[in-house]
Amino acid sequence: MTSTHPHGPIVVVGAGQAGAILSIYLARQGHDVMVYESRPDLRRTDIDAGRSINLALATRGIVPLIDVGVIAQVDEITIPMRGRMVHVDADPTPDLQPYGSQAHEVIHSVSRSDLNAILLDAAEATGKVTIEFEAAVSSINFEASTIVFDDGRTEPFGVVFGADGAGSRVRKAMGLVGACDFGTEWLDHDYKELTLPPSPDGSHRIDPNALHIWPKGEFMLIALANPEGDFTVTLFAPKTTFAELDALDAIQKFFETEFAAFTELVPDVAEQFLQNPTGRLGTLRATGWNYEDRAVIVGDAAHAIVPFHGQGMNAALESVRSLDAHMRKNPDDWATAFANYSAERKPDADAIADMALGNYIEMRSGVVDPDYLAKRELALELEQRHPDHLKPRYNMVMFSTMPYSEAQQRAHDQAEIIASSIADPSIDVDALIAALPELPPLDPLADPTALSTS
Ligand SMILES: Cc1cc2nc3c(=O)[nH]c(=O)nc-3n(C[C@H](O)[C@H](O)[C@H](O)COP(=O)(O)OP(=O)(O)OC[C@H]3O[C@@H](n4cnc5c(N)ncnc54)[C@H](O)[C@@H]3O)c2cc1C
Repeated sequence: MTSTHPHGPIVVVGAGQAGAILSIYLARQGHDVMVYESRPDLRRTDIDAGRSINLALATRGIVPLIDVGVIAQVDEITIPMRGRMVHVDADPTPDLQPYGSQAHEVIHSVSRSDLNAILLDAAEATGKVTIEFEAAVSSINFEASTIVFDDGRTEPFGVVFGADGAGSRVRKAMGLVGACDFGTEWLDHDYKELTLPPSPDGSHRIDPNALHIWPKGEFMLIALANPEGDFTVTLFAPKTTFAELDALDAIQKFFETEFAAFTELVPDVAEQFLQNPTGRLGTLRATGWNYEDRAVIVGDAAHAIVPFHGQGMNAALESVRSLDAHMRKNPDDWATAFANYSAERKPDADAIADMALGNYIEMRSGVVDPDYLAKRELALELEQRHPDHLKPRYNMVMFSTMPYSEAQQRAHDQAEIIASSIADPSIDVDALIAALPELPPLDPLADPTALSTS
């Protein structure tokens, strides 16, 4: 294997979404890349590819997929979701809250493993990427320039890209040489995935083109459709609720009481609940994303967030594209490239981490709160009148490419104006909105027709 790095081979640890797309970008820069992945090859084995079976893909994730040339294949495996369908006990015909007024303002349900397979195939198709599966990295020896594996084997490296997820070993090794500080804030809520099966004729039992939410104040269920006719359903609830759900009858009673209509569609919900693992949720904040020109972290390894904005993977893909851009700007000085990438993305990672935490409350209780709904309606109305100056926060996060930190600041300013206008209708809200700075244009690559929306 040849390499342009003076210290030796270019290594990516982890072949999830971040590692797979990063290896394509590195190959396109002209490098030969060695990828080590601890799991078996998901294209050849029937393994659970991760914690959740499907994910919401939005503009920030779509753009890098366009960039590396895989969007046509991705289009074949996605299901558009046009809005939230909020299921409440009092209303047997649920209400669709559209995400936006523009045709492309939809998010897309995509299988984590199918998307990963497309990226792995594209990486190998470059002819410059070698992926070794079932190769679990244990640590990095920077002095000896070796990757150390769980089985004791060592391999040389020049520069290592840590795309090894929230529990990153690369990040840990960077911590040991003083390059990176990090910590995880765990949520006192956990999650559990369940399956809502297809109808006997194979069709979806509820509308596949919506993200379904059963909000319950302190907890909630959500469901995203799969092309096979089923839905991946996730219960998010306090740890104390999970602790009470330890036997079939208690679980059955909980679901029948809290989610009666849903439970009718999933007769084995209690069995599934006992069988499936419970997952933890946390926000990983890391400071120092690179160690000179020897190591850099991307995706969840640098910025794992709670899933309530559906942005972890989208942010991971966007971060990889940013890293690629900085490496292209500084092809001969990767220490600078990595430091600039880190300086650019860290404030954005912090911003989406905070917005994701905030969106949990919005999803589990806001979506049925009259005050929230009034504000959202006014925001959508104002967007119609001032499309160049205002976009609701959710839409700036999901359907724009402005930096997350800018979306957060704008959302804060907009919310203040909207709240004061609701409190005092005599305020000239149009003048205040018109005085906000113009919204930045979408990234030129962000083709709104790249994925089917119906
Ligand atoms: C319940 C839930 C729902 C979610 N929903 C969404 C959503 O709707 N939209 C969205 O955008 N995001 C969502 N996310 C977040 C998303 O899953 C992650 O942000 C995304 O998968 C991060 O990709 P990654 O490649 O950085 O990390 P990962 O997907 O974790 O990949 C890391 C890879 O590294 C490998 N690895 C780990 N350690 C080692 C090692 N020591 N040696 C070698 N290989 C190693 C792993 O096997 C894995 O393949 C959700 C997350 C959860 C938990």
